[in-house]
Amino acid sequence: MGDRITKTDEEWRQLLTPEQFAVTRRKGTERAFTGKYWAFNEPGVYLCVCCGNELFSSETKFDSECGWPSFYAPLKSEHIEEAPDYSWGMNRTEVMCSRCGAHLGHVFDDGPAPTGLRYCINSASLNFVKKSE
Ligand code: FE
Repeated sequence: MGDRITKTDEEWRQLLTPEQFAVTRRKGTERAFTGKYWAFNEPGVYLCVCCGNELFSSETKFDSECGWPSFYAPLKSEHIEEAPDYSWGMNRTEVMCSRCGAHLGHVFDDGPAPTGLRYCINSASLNFVKKSE
C-alpha cells in the first residue's frame, strides 16, 4: 500500500487512550476477558484504532473462549502484516496493521475451518463500525 502512515509517539499519544497506545505502539496485551469485543457479536467491520484500516469482519469472528476477540481470517490479507515474535520465551507470530504498523495481536494455527487459523486480537487495537445496510 502506498499510503503508509508514520507518526511520532507524541502524535499517537494525542490520538489514543493510554491503553490503546500501550497495546498498539508498545506491543502490549490487554488482560483476557477485559476488552470490549471478546464477547461482542454485532455485524460489522473492525478498523485499526490508529489509522482506520479495515482489518476484520464480523463474518469471520468466532468464540474462541480465550478472552480476546478472535477471527479465522483478516478482511484482506494485504491489510495486515505478520512477523515472528520470540518475546517472553515463546515462538509466536505477531499480527500488525500494514498501514500504520500498529500491533494487533498474534495468529495461531488452532483456529476453526476453513483456515484453521486463530487471529487473537486485542480489543484495544480495534474500532468496530456497524454494518450500514
Ligand atoms: Fe493502522
